Amino acid sequence: MANQTPLGLLDIDSLIGEEDLAMQKTVRQFVEERIKPDIAEWYESGRLPAREIAEQLGSIGALGMHLEGYGCTGTSATAYGLACLEVEAGDSGIRSLMSVQGSLAMFAIHAHGSEEQKEEWLPQMAKGEKIGCFGLTESDFGSNPAGMRTRAKQDGTDWILDGSKMWITNGSIADVAVVWAQTDDGIRGFVVPTDVDGFSAPAIKQKMSMRASVTSELVLDGVRLPAEAMLPAVKGLRGPLSCLTEARFGIIFGSIGAARDCLEATLRYASEREIFDKPLGGFQLTQAKLADMSVELGKSMLLALHIGRLKDEGRITAEQVSFGKLNNIREALKIARECRTIMGAAGITLEWPMMRHANNLESVLTYEGTSEVHQLVLGKALTGQDAFR
Ligand SMILES: Cc1cc2nc3c(=O)[nH]c(=O)nc-3n(C[C@H](O)[C@H](O)[C@H](O)COP(=O)(O)OP(=O)(O)OC[C@H]3O[C@@H](n4cnc5c(N)ncnc54)[C@H](O)[C@@H]3O)c2cc1C
Repeated sequence: MANQTPLGLLDIDSLIGEEDLAMQKTVRQFVEERIKPDIAEWYESGRLPAREIAEQLGSIGALGMHLEGYGCTGTSATAYGLACLEVEAGDSGIRSLMSVQGSLAMFAIHAHGSEEQKEEWLPQMAKGEKIGCFGLTESDFGSNPAGMRTRAKQDGTDWILDGSKMWITNGSIADVAVVWAQTDDGIRGFVVPTDVDGFSAPAIKQKMSMRASVTSELVLDGVRLPAEAMLPAVKGLRGPLSCLTEARFGIIFGSIGAARDCLEATLRYASEREIFDKPLGGFQLTQAKLADMSVELGKSMLLALHIGRLKDEGRITAEQVSFGKLNNIREALKIARECRTIMGAAGITLEWPMMRHANNLESVLTYEGTSEVHQLVLGKALTGQDAFR
């Protein structure tokens, strides 16, 4: 059994249905051909041909792919997870584009929007012709979005939105923003076309992570919207949290892609690089690292597939999603860093993916609920005690 792949060791593919495997293969090929050849350059320059990539992702049915109707592909949740895995093997920034589009912006409209909102936005977003963003976080309210200050006030039948959002993926390139705001009736969601007066989205610069991803501030300065811009079907924090659970689900799989890419590249390097007159992969210390990382990668994959099945059976809980996100991102980040050690100096360049993936995973550890927030979710589930405050 020479030269097994890390996930091949456990014959993981035998646990995945044929249709889901076929979708995974399509996305893997897309990433090999369209993302991997250019990602180092996009990362270094901090510039991404986001519209082109969105349309390409749309053409393979990867945007909002697990949603039904309105031009969406309607795959299983597991297939969606596997697609996230393959896209994140390319780069977490591209997977962020896909997650925010499908699981945050499109899901919010699909689950909580009016028929008119769904028909207006979802088919174009599924094709990647329109890009969406999701504005929940504010500079003073990240882990505690309930405190948000962005406010929507009624003026006749219209709504006037004032405030700002921070760290918003796709913000500066979005055609539509799903924005959450306080109203006299609690937190509500609004579908905001980004060409409306009073809306601007300056890009956040000097990032050391997610350089192949657009991250922005959203400024809402007296943005006037008609009554029908509000998402009618949900009220309170339940609305944005339902979307975050969707996106976190994709990340459970996605992080495995980043880790797998690091490990596969490291295995290639270790078999070619000679030190002390023999291949680096022939040393026990290197093999111990490779074995331990493969074990963690395999365990993360089994966990992701289990959580995928729970979602496909319609019985997943938010705590299970926290469980998966907490473990898989943490382990992926450890794998990326450990791979870098095997690479020596070569591991610090963009010629190899470890440092780029590790830097990206620092953001993934923080967004969609920090690790600490997920520990608190699990702690509460285990003890019945709320330790958030
Ligand atoms: C690249 C990137 C893209 C993003 N994209 C989006 C997006 O598209 N839309 C969006 O709305 N947001 C987005 N975010 C924001 C992200 O969701 C927030 O950064 C995250 O929720 C954490 O908020 P914060 O950064 O304000 O950290 P804080 O909430 O200030 O947390 C700081 C520290 O305190 C810890 N902490 C928090 N609460 C507790 C507690 N009760 N007990 C102990 N410790 C605690 C945290 O775990 C963390 O370690 C993005 C962030 C990044 C980095």
